[in-house]
Amino acid sequence: MTAAAPLDAIRAFITQHAIPLEPELQRRPFRELVPALEALRAEVRRQGLWAPHLPPEQGGLGLTLPAFAEVSAVLGESPIGHYLFNCQAPDVGNQELLLAHGTSEQRATWLAPLVRGEVRSCFAMTEPEFAGSNPVWMDTRAVRDGDAYVITGHKWFTSSADGAAFTIVMAVTDPDASPHRRASQIIVPMDAPGVTLVRNISVMGESGSDYLSHAELRFDAVRVPVTNRLGAEGEGFALAQERLGPGRIHHCMRWIGICERAFGLMVRRAATRELAPGEPLGRQQVVQHWIAESRAEVDAARLLVLDVAHRIERDGATAARDGISLIKFHVAGVLQRVLDRAIQVHGALGMTDDTPLAYWYRHERGARIYDGPDEVHKTSVAKRILAAAGMPARERRHG
Ligand SMILES: Cc1cc2nc3c(=O)[nH]c(=O)nc-3n(C[C@H](O)[C@H](O)[C@H](O)COP(=O)(O)OP(=O)(O)OC[C@H]3O[C@@H](n4cnc5c(N)ncnc54)[C@H](O)[C@@H]3O)c2cc1C
Repeated sequence: MTAAAPLDAIRAFITQHAIPLEPELQRRPFRELVPALEALRAEVRRQGLWAPHLPPEQGGLGLTLPAFAEVSAVLGESPIGHYLFNCQAPDVGNQELLLAHGTSEQRATWLAPLVRGEVRSCFAMTEPEFAGSNPVWMDTRAVRDGDAYVITGHKWFTSSADGAAFTIVMAVTDPDASPHRRASQIIVPMDAPGVTLVRNISVMGESGSDYLSHAELRFDAVRVPVTNRLGAEGEGFALAQERLGPGRIHHCMRWIGICERAFGLMVRRAATRELAPGEPLGRQQVVQHWIAESRAEVDAARLLVLDVAHRIERDGATAARDGISLIKFHVAGVLQRVLDRAIQVHGALGMTDDTPLAYWYRHERGARIYDGPDEVHKTSVAKRILAAAGMPARERRHG
């Protein structure tokens, strides 16, 4: 029997411990918050709520994907929720990847400390010189030399690389193979000779630090043992696809958590802000419509994501791929609209860092770009629908 999600306990933790720390997140670099966050992580462990997505043998709660999705929505109500429970991206994807495809040696060396929360990790796939939306087109090479790979390449937007113990690098291992078999995923310690963190990229006015950052990386003839490869040679693309299925459920439910918090703030502000004595903002019909539209959009989005989570659980990510694409762009759009309305209702206050709205508005604009831009998802779903209706396929260029 699978465990039920302890939603009440998790909600209470977020309310009592995570939300009070948020003003510090707005005022200070993430790195300075790490000691306070570590103390809260210890408390999460003590309450038996650690790593809800992992099986009990790994020290987690053993939740199904739909049950973890419900947890993710609760954690998403605070920007530090997932981090406190050790299920934050990109570590959560790396944990799932190592669990499913790591050798016993890789699990002992890389997965075990990650699961215990002793180290962090990152995932380096996107390159500044190549369109990330074409995932089989990249320049980073891993050349076999005896029992080692020598990796050379340039990556960027490697989230959370600053302070990470290792990265999983997507690199071409056989340039002559068919496009989807060219690359492999290889574990690279961040302190290996030849790995350079060029900079934490300034994103929406903020370079960030530690976990809350996106780095540009260079790999100059970095030598790692062949045993650091995940899965078989040429399986990099297939593993990336596998990682993204449940990953999109995690992100979408986190976004729904953000929507719920933004919605609550919007409603409270509309009910209490007076435009004139005795005249609350919520009496304006336009605000009432924003509230009703937001409620409908968030409720519908939640049901759609949970339905896809159940389908992944039952039939696998490949069978559920249309649904996975639909939720990715649909929920990202709901998130953006709900945040925008909430900011508008708050007026100038919405632009300040006295609420988390502006933080999310900046940090979550990327939702429509990462894990596949909206347009790519829309096109791939529509193409399959059209193909089923008899439209002939066109030859694709992969580069
Ligand atoms: C906040 C954030 C975090 C990220 N974290 C990571 C990470 O940890 N690791 C990592 O490897 N990468 C990461 N990325 C990179 C991300 O995966 C890429 O940005 C994404 O794949 C898009 O690639 P690109 O930026 O090169 O855009 P491009 O491929 O240059 O595309 C630019 C735009 O072109 C349009 N477009 C592209 N393809 C099509 C199409 N087929 N049809 C119509 N329009 C299209 C879209 O509007 C798209 O936004 C992150 C990005 C962001 C913003």
